[in-house]
Amino acid sequence: MGKRLGIPSALLYYVYYPFWLAFFNEIGVQVVTSKGTTKSILDKGVREALADACVPIKLFFGHVMELKNKCDCLFIPRVVCLNGKTIYCPKFLGLPDMIRHSLDGLPPIIDVRIDARQGRLSKLKAFLEIGSYFGVGRNIVLKAYCKAMLVLRRYHRLLRKGLNPLEAMEYMENPNNKKLALPPKANLKFAVLGYPYSIYDSFISVNLLDKLKNMGVSVLTTENINPLVLAWQKNCGLPKRLFWTFSDAVLKAAYYLFRRGRVDAVLHLTAFGCGPDSILNKFIELEAKQHGDIPFMTLMIDEHTGEAGMTTRLEAFVDMVRRRKEVSPCQN
Ligand code: SF4
Repeated sequence: MGKRLGIPSALLYYVYYPFWLAFFNEIGVQVVTSKGTTKSILDKGVREALADACVPIKLFFGHVMELKNKCDCLFIPRVVCLNGKTIYCPKFLGLPDMIRHSLDGLPPIIDVRIDARQGRLSKLKAFLEIGSYFGVGRNIVLKAYCKAMLVLRRYHRLLRKGLNPLEAMEYMENPNNKKLALPPKANLKFAVLGYPYSIYDSFISVNLLDKLKNMGVSVLTTENINPLVLAWQKNCGLPKRLFWTFSDAVLKAAYYLFRRGRVDAVLHLTAFGCGPDSILNKFIELEAKQHGDIPFMTLMIDEHTGEAGMTTRLEAFVDMVRRRKEVSPCQN
């Protein structure tokens, strides 16, 4: 039997899992994931990770703990830069080292470095290196890489249609699921800004997206916006763009949505202890102040975030936006 590769369902999982799965399936490697976050996974992560880490990193630790006895090796790439312009948060860069030096009894870690600033073929080279780890020849890796790129494009198309990453992954597995192909009926439309691994992890976001849906609110996120539209926002009025990939994308989405997004309100989900967010939050708040006609709220999550508190704040906010829209229906 071939090697089983463990991929934690956290952080870049929400962005690249369809690509990784297609690639590894094509080279004959069996993939196992840690599935959705549970309280036990979060507790394990909180126990094992550094106390001052942000909750997404703690959660990643928990997902690794969940997987470590179910696979023969772990996939924790050192993702530095994928677009040649911005880099990932320093926690991503040090992730394989943090995991390796904090947790005992782990299987081998595939921690290939991916840095698009090192040349046009650097991403492909990284996957050739991964292929060589499994003893797979160059031609098979090339074919797998091309196939995975096509899968990623299809995934992105589904996100642009308004699905969230989990829905898009489900739809790719089961295209006959008509329910997923249809946008939900809603009388309010909110932009939800934040990092994909916080927003779409229903456990740490305390089910934010489903709560909104149940309150009759449709949601637009950074992932649903065409990347070309985001690229047109340039530096969002700043002398230079933000360094960090996700923060740069979220600021561009905020800039676009406040100016042209035609949304009824904007919510920003931020993680306690996030370094990049200490800067990003400020810029989003300044943008929100310039557009006082669009209600804005920041929600901060950490490992102690409670369901009741989040629900109360959301319900109050949605009620306020709904009443405001009833009084002035022409807004947005
Ligand atoms: S960007 Fe913030 S939330 Fe994301 S990993 Fe880095 S510190 Fe954590």
